[in-house]
Amino acid sequence: MRVSERSEEDYRRLIRDVEDFPHAGVAFKDITPLLADAGAFAELVEDIAAPFRDSQVDAVVGIEARGFILAAPVALALRAGFVPVRKVGKLPWAVHSESYDLEYGSGQLEVHQDAVAANQRVLIVDDVLATGGTAAATARLVQRMGARPVGFSFALELCFLEGRARIADLPTFSLVSYR
Ligand code: AMP
Repeated sequence: MRVSERSEEDYRRLIRDVEDFPHAGVAFKDITPLLADAGAFAELVEDIAAPFRDSQVDAVVGIEARGFILAAPVALALRAGFVPVRKVGKLPWAVHSESYDLEYGSGQLEVHQDAVAANQRVLIVDDVLATGGTAAATARLVQRMGARPVGFSFALELCFLEGRARIADLPTFSLVSYR
């Protein structure tokens, strides 16, 4: 499904493992070297948009904060709108809220109630699929707006955390897998 010539290994070389960040025991996947590489960043965006080119996506939802960096250019690539899902208290208008669990900690995500219209088709984009709690909560937010989640696209997937099982009802794409 990848449209660029770049292999998974090429991408992997631009992703840095930072041990014990932000907490002991977490191996943090730092994508900033990849984002800083002009060619790799552009191809990453094309490669995570490509599987959903024929899905008639109306809006791309990005999850704060690193999800925004990828979801906004994916929205442009798909000629779709961009919708931010933010942490609690950041959005100024009336919101829907959902609780979520993280690999480290837990919290609450919010979206503006009028961010997408009923029945619009929504792609959810984030940098990393870990336990899947964030992605599942975001899908619930999309459903509460009466919109239709058409799938998930991630740059990275930590397969050993089995997050995919929590979002198994929708097509899920990830570019780089860690097993
Ligand atoms: P989860 O809900 O467990 O799937 O966690 C996904 C969210 O947490 C994403 O928004 C990621 O940005 C972030 N995240 C979780 N684990 C990591 C990790 N090991 N490296 C980088 N980001 C992570």
